[in-house]
Amino acid sequence: MTTSHYIAGRWVEGQGSDCISVNDPALGQPFAELMAASVGQVDQAVTAARGALHAWKSTSASERAAYLRGFAEQLGQRREALITLQMRNNGKPRHEAEIDLNDAIATFGYYAELAEQLPSKNRDVPLAAPGFSARTRLEPVGVVGLIVPWNFPLVTSAWKLAPALAAGCTVVLKPSEVTPLIEQAYGQIADALGLPAGVLNIINGKAETGAALSNHNGLDKLSFTGSNSVGSQVMRSASAQCRPVTLELGGKSAIVVFDDCDVGQAVEWIVAGITWNAGQMCSATSRLLVQDGIAEALLPRLQEALENLRVGNPLTEEVDMGPLTSQAQWLKVAGYFATAREEGLQCLVGGKALDRDGWFVSPTLYADVPKDSRLWTEEIFGPVLCARRFATEEQAIAETNDSRFGLVATVCSADLDRAERVADALEVGHVWINSVQAVFVETSWGGTKGSGIGRELGPWGLSAYQSVKHVTRCLG
Ligand code: NAD
Repeated sequence: MTTSHYIAGRWVEGQGSDCISVNDPALGQPFAELMAASVGQVDQAVTAARGALHAWKSTSASERAAYLRGFAEQLGQRREALITLQMRNNGKPRHEAEIDLNDAIATFGYYAELAEQLPSKNRDVPLAAPGFSARTRLEPVGVVGLIVPWNFPLVTSAWKLAPALAAGCTVVLKPSEVTPLIEQAYGQIADALGLPAGVLNIINGKAETGAALSNHNGLDKLSFTGSNSVGSQVMRSASAQCRPVTLELGGKSAIVVFDDCDVGQAVEWIVAGITWNAGQMCSATSRLLVQDGIAEALLPRLQEALENLRVGNPLTEEVDMGPLTSQAQWLKVAGYFATAREEGLQCLVGGKALDRDGWFVSPTLYADVPKDSRLWTEEIFGPVLCARRFATEEQAIAETNDSRFGLVATVCSADLDRAERVADALEVGHVWINSVQAVFVETSWGGTKGSGIGRELGPWGLSAYQSVKHVTRCLG
């Protein structure tokens, strides 16, 4: 049993009624347990954050930047432990766990720099009218609740935590019940750095704990990353209290391959876009749109590449792809395999769970999937790729945009003018051209349509935790 709630600068045991099992998905077995926080402990965490707000927002931007740099350094000092824990609890291959850690470190470093620039953003506003002066002040939003999912725990929390602290907000973070141990590192680092008590609070629990936080009337803002169904509940809570909310939700993104592409290169981008993190990415490019002229050459090569992926336990084998992170996710993906069979989809690779312990599925490819198939329209969150063919650029754009989601897309073409033109026409938050899904802290993250509201990363990620104030003075 692990003590895992960090409230008002102290580690406390959960007083809730839910016992949370922390699992190793490669074995399908638990390796730790903890008690969820009670509703009363959620309240204590929000109260602690409120109590710490005035002093924290009064610190200088350079003091906050120093703490953020401390987070980056301390994450680096915990490198091996954090990589191993992500491999064990998420089932991530080592190189992916390393990239996640590096991303979190880069995020804290980046927002340390933006924090240092904050004083220069509070400037005078030139006015056309005579007799008045005006100045801008960027203030922290206040106490923020951060609710995150399990697929990239270190990263998703860093994308929220670092800009919130940089802006001068105090925080209550609720990690996912599937991966509750990983973000404890942030509490341990807060301890090690002597971050003032109450600035960062971490509470663990399931839906009840998340709902207690999102319904709490002591928050000034809630930032949520997760599913659309929970996101809409979080938005309802926010609307009941007329308070701002950032939502990073699901996706059903497309990768568009034009027939002037190098086949081998395109296969590499397609495979990465659907098998990274075993496809459990909001940004998974799970809809493949392939131009008629290249389809016959590409699909067999893609089939071969997916068949040759090494799938296994990242802690004991050299693998390209690990298991799905939870049994619930494994059952969900298996449900889509059953739907594909019922719909009579043409399966070129996979389409089944692996016959071994743990929550493994085969990388999967369905060809010529009808546009009204549930597998074409719904987020599966697993290594399941659906392919369709297209003839013209206009058709590729129309099919990509024909989705209730709008998170990301990838465009592959040797004709860079065309690739840029298509990128501009896509209704999504981020487009990669001839690339794997490289994410840089300086660029934004977030989607259009059903993929969410707001942006993380870059200066937009910081703005999400700031409130704009103007002071206007009559000079007369
Ligand atoms: P989820 O919505 O089930 O859970 C997310 C978080 O919300 C967890 O911490 C959970 O405990 C909490 N929660 C559950 N019920 C709640 C409630 N009623 N009120 C408040 N909080 C509640 O999502 P998940 O299964 O953990 O993650 C997968 C989903 O996240 C996918 O849809 C994926 O696309 C999305 N996601 C989006 C992004 C993005 O940046 N757009 C990034 C990662 C994941």
